[in-house]
Amino acid sequence: MSPRKPREIDPEAGAEAEPEAGADAEPDGGPRISPDVGLCSACTFVRRVESRRGSVFYRCERSAEDPRYPKYPPLPVLTCPGFVVMDPAPRP
Ligand code: SF4
Repeated sequence: MSPRKPREIDPEAGAEAEPEAGADAEPDGGPRISPDVGLCSACTFVRRVESRRGSVFYRCERSAEDPRYPKYPPLPVLTCPGFVVMDPAPRP
């Protein structure tokens, strides 16, 4: 069995889109780690960005201040020293 190839992402896609922070939280408020995205889907430093054509990208906010983190990391991210689980959504 060969290793999974990281998914290609378009670094231009996020320039005009609005992020949807917390969009990947489970309905019960817990974080969801998507097998397609990996740790980023549940990280407090991720910003989910959707292009006008409906493509979804995951931008690492740590990249703005730390060059060790790529702006758009190859997915799925399976290990990351900067991962911090995002706070769950407030419960009603
Ligand atoms: S710190 Fe790591 S896990 Fe968090 S968004 Fe950046 S690359 Fe993904």
